[in-house]
Amino acid sequence: MSEGRKQPQRTCLGCRQVKDQSELIRFVRSPDGEILADLKGRLPGRGAYLCNSRQCLEAAVSRQQFSRAFRCECQPADVAGLADKVAQELLKHLANLLGMARKSASFVAGSNAVLDALTHRKSLSIIALAEDISPQIGEKIRRKAQRQNVLTTELFDKMELGRILGRAERSVVGLPDGKLADAFIGDLRRYKDISGEI
Ligand SMILES: [Zn+2]
Repeated sequence: MSEGRKQPQRTCLGCRQVKDQSELIRFVRSPDGEILADLKGRLPGRGAYLCNSRQCLEAAVSRQQFSRAFRCECQPADVAGLADKVAQELLKHLANLLGMARKSASFVAGSNAVLDALTHRKSLSIIALAEDISPQIGEKIRRKAQRQNVLTTELFDKMELGRILGRAERSVVGLPDGKLADAFIGDLRRYKDISGEI
């Protein structure tokens, strides 16, 4: 994908805007006619492209653009179902990125460690709080992060965060400035956008 300087351009099925392929989500049709999101761009066959946007997804479905693109009766009946599938894939990406942060030991985990990092102005880019973090601690971290312009989000629960980070439970994890955090923030935006959480 990184060959040459010029990015291949593709048209979004929803809004018809032409964009760099890397900005769009690729969809393919499975042999049994199901439309699948191909976030890694590795599935074989003809691809159709869409912005990371629920709006574009809805526009593409309502205008029968998938059938047209794949020249078949493979129009997804259910926008919500398709959007969910993309959201689930993105969630997997986000978990993988946290797993990579764990492997390279480039993360701060646990509420004390994260608060400490914020106090000492260690440069964190993003803090992910477990959905079931204690409300008081969550609020404390959020307020402190906001003062320092560090993004916060709620993602996974304590068990799941712990599993990803190799612990029993984790209530919060912070990623320091860097490529990994940038990738995480990028996928997080896409995730929120496609799941209509904005
Ligand atoms: Zn679009």
